Amino acid sequence: MEVIENLIKFEIVKSNYQATMVQSAVLGFPRIGGQRELKKVTESYWKGGVSTEDLLTKGKELRAHNWKLQKEAGVDVIASNDFSFYDQVLDLSLLFNAIPERYTKFDLAPIDILFAMGRGLQRKATETTAAVDVTALEMVKWFDSNYHYVRPTFSHATEFKLNTAAGVKPVDEYLEAKALGIETRPVIVGPVSYLFLGKADKDSLDLEPISLLDKVLPVYKELLSKLKAAGATQVQIDEPILVLDLPQEVQDKFAVAYKELASADVPELIFTTYFGDVRPNLAALKDLPVSGFHFDFVRGAEQFDEVVDALIVGTNKTLSVGIVDGRNIWKNDFSKSTALISKAIEKVGADKVVVATSSSLLHTPVDLENEKKLDATIKDWFSFATQKVDEVVTLAKNASGEDVSQKFAANAASIKSRKESSITTNPKVQERMATINEALSTRKSPFPERLAVQQTKYNLPLFPTTTIGSFPQTKDIRINRNKFAKGELSAEDYDAFIRSEIDLVVKFQEEVGLDVLVHGEPERNDMVQYFGEQLDGYAFTTNGWVQSYGSRYVRPPVIVGDVSRPKAMTVKESVYAQSITSKPMKGMLTGPVTCLRWSFPRDDVSQKVQSLQLGLALRDEVQDLEAAGITVIQVDEPAIREGLPLRAGKERSDYLNWAAQSFRVATSGVENSTQIHSHFCYSDLDPNHIKALDADVVSIEFSKKDDANYIQEFSNYPNHIGLGLFDIHSPRIPSKEEFISRIEEILKVYPAEKFWVNPDCGLKTRGWEEVRASLTNMVEAAKYFREKS
Ligand code: GLN
Ligand code: ZN
Repeated sequence: MEVIENLIKFEIVKSNYQATMVQSAVLGFPRIGGQRELKKVTESYWKGGVSTEDLLTKGKELRAHNWKLQKEAGVDVIASNDFSFYDQVLDLSLLFNAIPERYTKFDLAPIDILFAMGRGLQRKATETTAAVDVTALEMVKWFDSNYHYVRPTFSHATEFKLNTAAGVKPVDEYLEAKALGIETRPVIVGPVSYLFLGKADKDSLDLEPISLLDKVLPVYKELLSKLKAAGATQVQIDEPILVLDLPQEVQDKFAVAYKELASADVPELIFTTYFGDVRPNLAALKDLPVSGFHFDFVRGAEQFDEVVDALIVGTNKTLSVGIVDGRNIWKNDFSKSTALISKAIEKVGADKVVVATSSSLLHTPVDLENEKKLDATIKDWFSFATQKVDEVVTLAKNASGEDVSQKFAANAASIKSRKESSITTNPKVQERMATINEALSTRKSPFPERLAVQQTKYNLPLFPTTTIGSFPQTKDIRINRNKFAKGELSAEDYDAFIRSEIDLVVKFQEEVGLDVLVHGEPERNDMVQYFGEQLDGYAFTTNGWVQSYGSRYVRPPVIVGDVSRPKAMTVKESVYAQSITSKPMKGMLTGPVTCLRWSFPRDDVSQKVQSLQLGLALRDEVQDLEAAGITVIQVDEPAIREGLPLRAGKERSDYLNWAAQSFRVATSGVENSTQIHSHFCYSDLDPNHIKALDADVVSIEFSKKDDANYIQEFSNYPNHIGLGLFDIHSPRIPSKEEFISRIEEILKVYPAEKFWVNPDCGLKTRGWEEVRASLTNMVEAAKYFREKS
């Protein structure tokens, strides 16, 4: 009897389930492998260690693994063509034949053309092959993430066509999955975003990339038709630029482009946006002939009603609800997500709703199960890509009426545990936050007064010379750091080793004749991790790698709670370094905004709060340094530009305010005679943005800029600046004459009294030989100008 009842129940549930099936979708899975397999094989390939065949096989294995993982988890819509050996935008440029001529003349295999465009190629001539020497295409940040894409670069000579030399990647990978019994949805970057994210090549500067739309559309049509012929019923077409401010003429292109695509025999198109709110561009999306839309409701929750009402309600279109965060590592809050999914079902009907990740999971680490050392309580709050796949499936099942109550109960318990945990909340920090006001974030006197005192105190010559902080991180340093981490080296021995490295760096700088010295940062593994490890409120992963670009991955620490500094972090090393020289020794810290940007932030308090808390923690460090006699202190903020919100408006101006205030909270507690430096790189900086930091001296990356207007903009900057004089990414050594002509060039528009002489950035990736030669020439050039004036 009981059995029969159960059977009946089961039938009811099942029929319900079929009637209200809500699908699950993953927009893309990390391709690097749980053990960084992709990095290992590509770097080995570049060194000649493995064959093309081995490389391609590894790629195939990684794809198969990811598809199977998702299939087994029960994902309904699994992405294909989310894999790449370097970058998915670059893949498209290769496929569409947007390959500048300089890469095609060496008779390279397609995969080597891809890598040459991505990272440049220098190869000596052999008996059978000519020498190759090409630089890489420009690499830029993918929206506001720490992923970088290779910028499509077009010229008048660009001839779009399907370049099938290496097959047709989206089609081939679709079929590859199919052969494994897995139906997938190929993902490609859409035509308007593809062009808009590109740029004109040096030889075609008058070219507007977006004007190439008519030329690229036939190739998109051809590709989409091929996908349809291969059996793909749907394609995820990414148009992420809709979360940016777009000129009207670009907005207008969506209607043109999608009408044209729909005119061919193509699969259903799911028009996909992420990382923000599309509402300012809503008109551009009206009546597009696509089968559905995907929106990011993690980053753009406020857009829900408007976009759904305007674009989905009353149509036959699918609504893909991006609700599982593709950019962070926090466990999804099922009850919150379910409320939104229910709202979506109410509005458009269950059969039209798809539960999805907010964006590709590319930006999250692969698998939480690989974390063996993480505190169990904290680990329970996290969710990496593999776990997020499960979350999407569970949410969809629940919305379909399936019983997932156990998973929901476990989820509710984790969310509650985090909310109530004493790890996340520190009343002392919160009290201290209430003390932040104008006075706390303003230096004692304005810059001109400070300058006068500092000049008397340090008596630096004109054209003072300095470096940005790090010196070569040699193999020896890494070996000793690892030994210490593993317990194979005692703390005393490690300290002694670090001191000997500092000795070396200080002695070297005195020999070369630099004016303001640094200790060289030998004790630091990474400029954010080093501080995170010493701050309360942070957690670390051992394997939480995320692709930054090509084969470079980063492992961001996680801010889990209110941040504070239990004890001094850098004083010991700086004081030691100062004790062995009579020249000023610069203390070296990473600023609050950079610590925040290069970590996974909390999602339960605002970024502003986290940044200000970091500011307070660093303030203590700045003050301890000052008290210990370190009175030149540099607080690096290389990530300040990348944090800028994607759209102009209130959010952006608020950001600029709190970013600058966090820096000032950190640096304003000192005497007028203490000289605060800051450093910026990796971006085109707007001098207006850095003014508000009120640092006494800033150094900026500059060696690759040759725009006189850019220098001019900085000449109005009231405080002192060191415009980076040489590229630290390159082993090339500039001669003294080259430095002189560079400085002369700058002096045409930039005043000598404000001029500091320094490299672009830290020297940690360089070798000692180059560093010695480059810095010697740099100092000689400074002396030349001193004598002249
Ligand atoms: N002080 C750091 C260094 O020299 C700055 C690094 C950076 O700006 N990215 O390494
Ligand atoms: Zn830098």
